[in-house]
Amino acid sequence: MPGPTEVRPEILDALRRPVIFHRSPQMEELMRRATTRLGKVFGTQRPVHVITGSGTGAMELVIRGGTMRRLLAVVNGDFGERFARMAEACGRSVVRLTCEPGSVVPLDQVRDALRKGGFDAVLATHNETATGAIADMAGIGAVVREQGDCLLLIDAVSSAGGAPIALDAWGADAVVSASQKALALPPGLAFAAVSDRLVGRAKTLENRGVYLDVLRYEEFTAKAQSPSTPAVSLLFALDRQLADIEVETLDARFARHVAMRDACVAWVERAEAAALGVSLVARPENRSPTVTCIRTKERVAVLQRMREQGYELGGGQAPLTHTSFRIGHMGDHTVAGVEAMLDVLERVLRTL
Ligand code: PMP
Repeated sequence: MPGPTEVRPEILDALRRPVIFHRSPQMEELMRRATTRLGKVFGTQRPVHVITGSGTGAMELVIRGGTMRRLLAVVNGDFGERFARMAEACGRSVVRLTCEPGSVVPLDQVRDALRKGGFDAVLATHNETATGAIADMAGIGAVVREQGDCLLLIDAVSSAGGAPIALDAWGADAVVSASQKALALPPGLAFAAVSDRLVGRAKTLENRGVYLDVLRYEEFTAKAQSPSTPAVSLLFALDRQLADIEVETLDARFARHVAMRDACVAWVERAEAAALGVSLVARPENRSPTVTCIRTKERVAVLQRMREQGYELGGGQAPLTHTSFRIGHMGDHTVAGVEAMLDVLERVLRTL
């Protein structure tokens, strides 16, 4: 599944620890450890905010705290479109740049749109989960930084923990994510890494709300606390997973994700050559290390028969709802596990 992904038993065990007081020294110690380790995942020297909620919550937090009136949304697929709509729901006016499913909007188009001026922020999706296309955030960061005080807000919900993220080096102002994707935790935590520039802007904005006010998070994360009662049990799971990721190392984790992607790509190319009626949606230069979207006319039967074999795969998303399915090779999955699934998938396709 392209999220929520499978969670290892060791992580589920961490959820069984007795709940502790969220203002206790033990919890502050845990939060301090988590903040340091999350800084490496998000590529920032600044503290990363941990929010009880799903990724959507962190997206709304950075819209409320980091945008003013008129935004440019780089929309590579359904999730990019949701980010744009969320900003409109918060009262911002949004201009969209769009592309064909499987492609990403070219940087020149972003530069041209920004030069026409009048945008106070850009919304971008690092890894478009709907199509399996990953975009160049360093490139967008450089283009946005040409524009003075325009901020760059990035949705990295399906990439953080599975692909390199570099808030500081990209020159980005927010990178948000969630627990249930490449970090392979249960759903329920969202993460927001933000820049000094965004914090400065938030101080000038009204209507930031309460629960998703980035300035409250700034105040409490600095003290290794949460503004309100956090999901203590999920924080135990996070603590365990971040320790395990440190042992695996981020570089090895990213290499494992690339290898899982390569296994899927090689399989689809073989299956396509064998006339099994499948093809890749993402273009060769944009293929995501965490999710592969595959075109087929047999979507319903594929999903149903794979389920009968014990495998849950992702359905298609607009506009490929009826013509594709998705493999989520993210989190703690392995190349061997992905290959075993692909063998079953091949048998299923042959029966169709
Ligand atoms: N953005 C992307 C790229 C996603 O993949 C998802 C979840 N599939 C979301 C946003 C929404 O995240 P959540 O469901 O955690 O709110």
